[in-house]
Amino acid sequence: MNWKTGLTGMKPYTPGRSIEDVQTLYGLKEVVKLASNENPYGCSPAVKAFLESNTIQHEIYPDGNAGNLRNKLSKKHNVPKEMLLFGNGSDEIIMIISRALLGEGSNTVMPSPSFPQYAHNAKIEGAEIREVPLVNGQHDLNGFMDAMDSNTAVIWLCSPNNPTGNIIPANELKTFLKKIPDDILVVLDEAYYEYVTASDHIDSVTLLNDFANVIVLRTFSKAYGLAAFRVGYAIGNPAIISYLNTVRSPFNNNSFGVAVAERALDDEAFIEKCRELNSEQRNRFKNYAIENGIHMFDSQTNFVLIEVPDDADDAAESLLRHGFIVRSGNVLGTPGYVRVTIGTEAQNSNFFKAFDLLLNSQEIRI
Ligand code: PMP
Repeated sequence: MNWKTGLTGMKPYTPGRSIEDVQTLYGLKEVVKLASNENPYGCSPAVKAFLESNTIQHEIYPDGNAGNLRNKLSKKHNVPKEMLLFGNGSDEIIMIISRALLGEGSNTVMPSPSFPQYAHNAKIEGAEIREVPLVNGQHDLNGFMDAMDSNTAVIWLCSPNNPTGNIIPANELKTFLKKIPDDILVVLDEAYYEYVTASDHIDSVTLLNDFANVIVLRTFSKAYGLAAFRVGYAIGNPAIISYLNTVRSPFNNNSFGVAVAERALDDEAFIEKCRELNSEQRNRFKNYAIENGIHMFDSQTNFVLIEVPDDADDAAESLLRHGFIVRSGNVLGTPGYVRVTIGTEAQNSNFFKAFDLLLNSQEIRI
């Protein structure tokens, strides 16, 4: 393989339009980004205060061990420090896992649709990708069993799942994990864990005592409101973490990110408040979908996957003209739907007005 022949057929990640681009394109003063599931309430005031007064020494490399953050998370999750691995966002941890465990001759099993980085990294590593379609918006765990074989190295589960928002009920998850051979790594990506309000969802970290081949991914990018700082982490048994550490680059987290993540952990009340506000607003979306007779996947996250009357790209473009950036289902593997981050009360009220226009076809398409 060389740079001319390598990775044919692969596309780099294409980011959605930026707020500034849309402002310029449509001459809009206010544009709301509801495309990447960030926290519309920002971050904890404690983090903001820290950012204004911080004394980080920028000429010094970051602590490659993220020592203080490690201590705090070890206490929070009640796990030994050796069970934690930090990444430049959980994106990087997905890359590290793929690099460490996938390659030609191996295969990896994942839900579809789901977070595209699992398949993207598997492709880079040359592993075979086995996608198991959701059934009625739920993970088909029997389908996972059928897809696995002796060459399966990694299984990806995303709970709640992006882009559908569904969770894997706790009992189903445990029954499934009992059947998985312990040389297969099961990754439980829980980027949206903090938003879950359903009672049949457990803190998967508690499963780690029983299942040594499970690794849980969490992030500061979503409910903690720190997407710009790129801090994600994995919790897993020390042998797995130690192996993954061999692939990690020495200073993969920056000092600012680690420091703000530490401050954010001091304010769990902020997370609870965001969970509550998000859940109220999620209910508004549910009611809106019911009132208008449109399908929406049952979400436990801070986004919804909602049906649109026409082509998803056209719908996304129409919403864009009204100042809302959403993600078209055509790029998520869910044609006929758009994924919308749940905003604040005011943002959502305005969003529903823009969506009403779409539904009533008052919109003149370009
Ligand atoms: N997992 C899932 C399911 C996600 O939706 C995302 C972000 N969109 C990530 C992982 C990566 O998040 P980050 O790298 O910001 O931690």
